[in-house]
Amino acid sequence: MDAVDIAQRQQELLLAKQLEQHKASQTNKHLANNQTCDGDYECIDCGELVEPQRVKHGLTLRCIACQHKHEDKPCKKL
Ligand SMILES: [Zn+2]
Repeated sequence: MDAVDIAQRQQELLLAKQLEQHKASQTNKHLANNQTCDGDYECIDCGELVEPQRVKHGLTLRCIACQHKHEDKPCKKL
């Protein structure tokens, strides 16, 4: 094996690794959250887009209205 072969092989390994990581991150993204292909987030309760100011704070699961409803629920059943 000469230097060119080794370099080529390393390149292939690197590419395969990057591809794998890329696939894994895409799968995780899809499973882990409700992000649309535009980079926005959809509320898991009503399907509306989550307000950008919430997304900025990492609150990507629900819109403001549904978050309020969600937080109210446990107490209001008395
Ligand atoms: Zn909502």
